[in-house]
This record gives sequence, structure tokens and C-alpha cells, in this order.
Amino acid sequence: MKPLVVESLFYTYPDGTQALRGVSFALTAGQNVALVGPNGSGKSTLLLHLNGLLEAERGTLEVGGQPLKPQNMDFVRRYVGLVFQNPEDQLFMPTVQEDVAFGPQNLGLAGTELTNRVRECLEVVGLEPARFLERPCFNLSLGEKKRVALAGVLAMQPEVLVLDEPSAGLDPRGRRRLIRLLQDFPQTKLIATHDLDLALETCSETILLERGLVITSGPTSQLLRDRVLLETHGLELPLSLQG
Ligand code: ADP
Repeated sequence: MKPLVVESLFYTYPDGTQALRGVSFALTAGQNVALVGPNGSGKSTLLLHLNGLLEAERGTLEVGGQPLKPQNMDFVRRYVGLVFQNPEDQLFMPTVQEDVAFGPQNLGLAGTELTNRVRECLEVVGLEPARFLERPCFNLSLGEKKRVALAGVLAMQPEVLVLDEPSAGLDPRGRRRLIRLLQDFPQTKLIATHDLDLALETCSETILLERGLVITSGPTSQLLRDRVLLETHGLELPLSLQG
């Protein structure tokens, strides 16, 4: 069973902008896939469909073998963990502890099981629980906020992790730590990113999207070495492959 299948997905915003024009792809279990493309190519719009935040105009989505439809939303939101580009869009509880606990609490976790889950997830993202549990979310640094948001999604134990620009705004050390985390996570992943070096280091496959269409997809090591292809579609070779 494929954890995620997208078939001929179309989406038009209310103002008439056609953001997705027949996108199809599938992820196999454990696969790490980069979603790349210039600004406005439809990456974020696509990701917002994957846990039901946007509803397809046409086409089908299947998550964990279940069609994505309103009756399945509880299952879908547990199965697919979406980490937004901007943690401010994700964090909404007053403290780190409350924020990371929110999801698992809704799944029925309580007491020490809940406390342990929260602590474990903070440790995984490199935030020492003793220092961070009681911190208010609003005055954390951007890097810390991004890690709390990731911990909150991991706390739901999703099968598929979907990340929108996870390295945007991180300093080099934060970015390096993120790459190591992504390499270590066992979940199936779809990572929308402009950071083609991150894609090269974390994803075996890459999908190139432009103007709401899949231009091509294939092994990252081949696709991101193709200077002509990348430049034709508004991208550049990863820094590590330049010069
Ligand atoms: P990407 O994430 O690749 O930068 P987006 O999914 O954000 O691309 O955008 C795809 C297209 O949809 C762009 O043309 C963008 O201007 C448009 N778009 C995005 N959000 C909205 C919105 N809320 N209303 C109208 N058009 C939008």
C-alpha cells in the first residue's frame, strides 16, 4: 500500500488563479521525496491538500489507502503530519509543553504517557525539556519555534511527514541539525524546498513542479545535476555541485 497517492489534482483559488493543473504522483513507504520548483509553482497549494486544508477541485487523493474525504479527516490528519513553513501558523498554545501536548491529548493520551511523549519529541528535535517545557512559544527564536512545531507534529506519530520549506530562515548550524534529523526520521517524507542542497542530502527522489504541473520526477542525484533542466525551470544547480 502506498502511503500517499495523488491523481490528476486540480485546484483553482477563488480569484481564478489556477494553482494545480493535473498533478499526479505517489510516495512509497519510507521514501523521501523533494518537491522543488520556482515560486508560485504550486508547492504550498499541493501540500495544503495533503491533510485536507484545501479541497481538490478535481482529481483524487489517497492517504494510507483511504480516499481523502471529509469522513476520513481524523484518520488523514493523524496519518499525515504537515509542518508549515512559518511556525507562527502552527504554534498556538501559550507554552511549549501545551503546544506539543495538544495533538496527542486530542488523541486521548494523558498522564505520564502524555508527559513522556512530549519530552521525547522535544528531545528528538534537540530541545532540552527541562529548559523548554515551560517557555512561552512567542519569545522563542525562529529556529526554536520551527523545532517546537516539528515536535508537535511528531507527537502525533504520523506515518507521513510533509514539510514546507523546513530550512527557510535557519542559521547554518540549525540547518545542519535539521538535515541530520530528516536523515534519521524513519517516516515517509515529502519536503517542499528551495534548498536544493538539502534535497540532495535528504531525498532519494525529486519532483519538479512548475505552474501547477509536474514537469518531471526521478532520482534526486540525476535531476539536480541537470543544469539545463534546472535553469529552464527557474532553478540553479545545488551550491555543492556548482563550480
Ligand atoms: P509555491 O508554494 O510553489 O510558491 P503556491 O502554491 O504558493 O506556490 O502558489 C501557486 C499559485 O497560486 C501562485 O500563482 C500563487 O500566486 C497562487 N496563490 C497562492 N495562494 C493564493 C491565494 N490565497 N489566492 C489566490 N492565489 C493564490
